[in-house]
Amino acid sequence: MEAAVFLPRSYQPELVLLSIAVAILAGYAALDLADRVYAAQRRYAWIWLAAGAVTLGSGIWSMHFIGMLALILPIHMNYAPLPTALSWLMAVAASAAALRLACRPRLDHATWLAGSVVMAIGIVSMHYTGMYGMEIEPGIVYRPVWVVFSVLVALTGSAAALGLSFALREVRARLRTLKKSAAAAFMGAAIAGMHYAGMAAAQFPAASQGLAAGGVDKTWLALLISSLSVVLLAATLLASALDRRLETQTAELIASLQAANEQLRHSSYHDALTDLANRKLLDERLDREIGYVARRGGGFAVFYVDLDGFKLLNDNLGHRAGDEVLERVANAMRDTMRDNDTVARMGGDEFVVLAVGADGMADIDTLAHRLLMAIRQAGGTMPGLSASIGWARFPDHGASPQALITAADRAMYHAKHNGKNSYVGYRPEMARRAEDEFNLQRELGQALGAGDIVVYYQPKYRPADGTLSGAEALVRWHHAERGVITPDRFIPLAERSGQIDELEGVVLDSVCAQIRRWRDAGLAVPQISVNLSAARVSDPRLPGLVRRHLDRYGIEPRSLMFEITESVAIKGMLEAINTLKRFARMGVDVALDDFGTGHSSLSYLEKLPIQQLKIDRSFVRELGASMPQQAAIVSSIVTLAHNLGLGVVAEGVETEEQLRYVTELGCDEMQGYLFSRAVPAEDFSRLLVGGRYGERGVSRSPDAGRAAPAQAPEYG
Ligand code: C2E
Ligand code: CA
Ligand code: CA
Repeated sequence: MEAAVFLPRSYQPELVLLSIAVAILAGYAALDLADRVYAAQRRYAWIWLAAGAVTLGSGIWSMHFIGMLALILPIHMNYAPLPTALSWLMAVAASAAALRLACRPRLDHATWLAGSVVMAIGIVSMHYTGMYGMEIEPGIVYRPVWVVFSVLVALTGSAAALGLSFALREVRARLRTLKKSAAAAFMGAAIAGMHYAGMAAAQFPAASQGLAAGGVDKTWLALLISSLSVVLLAATLLASALDRRLETQTAELIASLQAANEQLRHSSYHDALTDLANRKLLDERLDREIGYVARRGGGFAVFYVDLDGFKLLNDNLGHRAGDEVLERVANAMRDTMRDNDTVARMGGDEFVVLAVGADGMADIDTLAHRLLMAIRQAGGTMPGLSASIGWARFPDHGASPQALITAADRAMYHAKHNGKNSYVGYRPEMARRAEDEFNLQRELGQALGAGDIVVYYQPKYRPADGTLSGAEALVRWHHAERGVITPDRFIPLAERSGQIDELEGVVLDSVCAQIRRWRDAGLAVPQISVNLSAARVSDPRLPGLVRRHLDRYGIEPRSLMFEITESVAIKGMLEAINTLKRFARMGVDVALDDFGTGHSSLSYLEKLPIQQLKIDRSFVRELGASMPQQAAIVSSIVTLAHNLGLGVVAEGVETEEQLRYVTELGCDEMQGYLFSRAVPAEDFSRLLVGGRYGERGVSRSPDAGRAAPAQAPEYG
């Protein structure tokens, strides 16, 4: 029945395939453009929108038009220009609406629905307007069910397309192209589905007639339109790809700029070696914390950490090893503190820690203890790596970052003086001392130039016969206002400030010059001992300097002896041994001073090229009937030293009882207030004439423990 009423129809399969391919390409372009329009900066967005709408609309339209051309009817058919153009416009308008929606930052349900409806209306009207353009008499009869179905396909297709374009935004890189292609295939199918459903809705009455004869060949027209639209779509895709590349490049550039900026910012706030905070960052954090605590109440602590013995370690093991130690120490401190605390490196082997949580004095002490332990552990097998730590608390000890750091620094110096390897809290009287120290350091510089640094001599005697065996040169500072300042006050200071080189140069020169003068006066001068600080012993220039002095004053090497301390010999071992060997070759003797106070093993003595051992006065002080084990220790030291061929000197002999013990135990020489304090060179000249203690110029002090010998003023 139907067959009689309506024209039979079929489709040209190549054109159907072509139309579907165009639909898929249009779908791909749609997703791509949606992406571009969304990503483009505001200024260019509308260009992308307009160009995109035209391309996409043309793509969809040509799909539809090719689909119509694919229809084979037994009559000839033409297309009216106006409805055809109108249908193209509608496709463009629907595309514009779709792309406009795709620019939105988010897609809520209402917009999604409204957008899908608008798009569907656009597509449906494009289709049916296009169909209306078919010049055919009588008109097409539509099957309502198929029409409704085609509208539904258009609606779901639009909804899916919109949803997909939003969903794909979140998808990254590689997966994106794949997913986009799949989505494009789906959209192409939806567009084509809509079209062919619409075509299925149309029925052409059997009496239909094409209105005009002739016209363009359908296949050629289809090819022309499809090529045009493919070219258009491809061009747009290419432009979009280029634009995307440009955008990625720009984004990469911006990202690398940001990374570089971040890097710069980081390095301007951190120490390069340890990656700890630097001074600048520390100051900022301190400022912030001060502000915070000032508002909220409470307190916080600042620790000043200075490594003990690092300089020696660095000099001996090399800078590489030194850096490694610093890094290990830095990590150990970082691990000890909490995340919002700040560990900063001030340079060299000095660190400052800001502990925001530490408030109570007991807490702060505990933290200082933990830091100290961590640092010692970080030292690993390094001999004797430890630290001196001073701390200050806000608000008690300072109101500004600078004041707090200075206070902690002063407390740290205190810890250094108290035998290192310890921690000390700040006390106000330290401020005065620090100022004192600063002034003293300045004045020492002047004193060195002005000849206010003077050498005193303390005699040494042989217990066996009481004859003079030598003297120790001990430096004094004749200060215009403060009187005579003893070395304990300024030697450590000179060591810290680097003035020790100059100071010891002055001492050496003045000792050599004095020996020359005594000789010239016809006096027999015994060996004079000169103290050397740790820093000097490892200085390779030292032996040369000594040589020049001996030559200049024309004195033989045996006239001099150097005293070095145990700790020097151990810590700066390699350099020290080098220096000692050169002294041995030159014929200058060396004594190991303050023996027993360090931690050297006795067996170590064997390896040192030295001639003498000075037993520290702390041992001598405890010699007596009440301390028999002390006598036993000294006795074994003396025996060992003698076995090694070393002479033994007992320091700090103050009483007759000590003198007796020292003599009994077999010491070779002795030195102490019982015989004489250190005296100026002129006074020492008289001792040179005397020879034995208690004779001539030498007056034994009646109450040697407290009073000075008659001739020696109370300097030493
Ligand atoms: P030291 O080398 O152990 O020198 C011995 C110190 O003990 C001297 O103190 C001396 O006056 C003191 N003394 C001597 N006999 C007795 C005694 O019976 N009882 C007591 N209680 N003390 C006694 P001084 O002169 O104050 O020197 C202190 C330290 O300063 C010296 O200790 C030495 O380490 C250092 N020193 C002195 N002169 C120089 C120098 O020219 N260069 C260097 N690097 N250090 C020096
Ligand atoms: Ca000494
Ligand atoms: Ca000593």
